[in-house]
Amino acid sequence: MTGRTHDLAAFTALGYVVATQPIPTISLATGLVAFTANMIGGLAPDIDQPTADLWRRLPVGTLLGKLLAPILGGHRFISHSILGIILFGAFTKFLLNQMSAVLIVDMSVVWWSFMIGYISHLVMDTFTKEGVPWLFPIPIRFGIPPLKIFRITTGGVLEKSFVFPGLIILNIYLYYNYYSQFLSFLKHFVK
Ligand SMILES: [Zn+2]
Repeated sequence: MTGRTHDLAAFTALGYVVATQPIPTISLATGLVAFTANMIGGLAPDIDQPTADLWRRLPVGTLLGKLLAPILGGHRFISHSILGIILFGAFTKFLLNQMSAVLIVDMSVVWWSFMIGYISHLVMDTFTKEGVPWLFPIPIRFGIPPLKIFRITTGGVLEKSFVFPGLIILNIYLYYNYYSQFLSFLKHFVK
């Protein structure tokens, strides 16, 4: 999947959680930082790919990407697995704890938002031809549907004409259906 699709998928997953789960009252600053963390989480697993969108969006990103990719084992290895979710989750928690000294926001909300983006990335990649090694280091790549030929090619016609518009429709459905939840969430937003 392309970075654009991952962004939208992360946003959709976050919207779904806000609509269906009890959300604590948060400050506007927390909301904004959490939103950014969600986008970063949605791109973070591709940290193992020097050409990833995440790197291109950072100033010295391309260089950093080239240095980090071999350490993480190349594209779609450890960062695209349950083990990767745990490791990145722990690392992000540590990083946010350090930042909480200077950034006065609810870091647990920010962390959850990052993780929702991260997991949405792996779920989306599962629909692509390459599949996802969920059980790394067990070298099996899982995909939906199991037959590779029916899966999606990254950046292909199916992603652009079906997956991306499909996610937009899902968002419209979400906001239409859970309108009152979103409204009450926004009303209690700035506290
Ligand atoms: Zn990926």
